[in-house]
Amino acid sequence: MPLYDYRCDDCGQQFEARHSFDERVECCPSCGQPAVTRLITTAPAIMGGIMTDAGSGGKATKEQLRDKWAEETPKLRKKMVDKYGEDRVNTYLPTLNTSYESK
Ligand SMILES: [Zn+2]
Repeated sequence: MPLYDYRCDDCGQQFEARHSFDERVECCPSCGQPAVTRLITTAPAIMGGIMTDAGSGGKATKEQLRDKWAEETPKLRKKMVDKYGEDRVNTYLPTLNTSYESK
């Protein structure tokens, strides 16, 4: 099962939970508050965002998408590495290490 990062909306406690994609974690382990926010999104969701952004109505050419990927991915990857660390990015977001062509 994948590992997710959460932050409690109430006390700000960050924690990890391992469960299936559709399932929600019950509550914050620190204060019991049920309103928790999932922090990390899946790589496909991130990539979908980039592609939607680049596509602007599906009119982007393959070259434009590739350029956008080449431009955005290193920035996104750096952000993720800063936040989660090199190891976790390599483990959970391996798509960020690939080029558009090899995807
Ligand atoms: Zn809490």
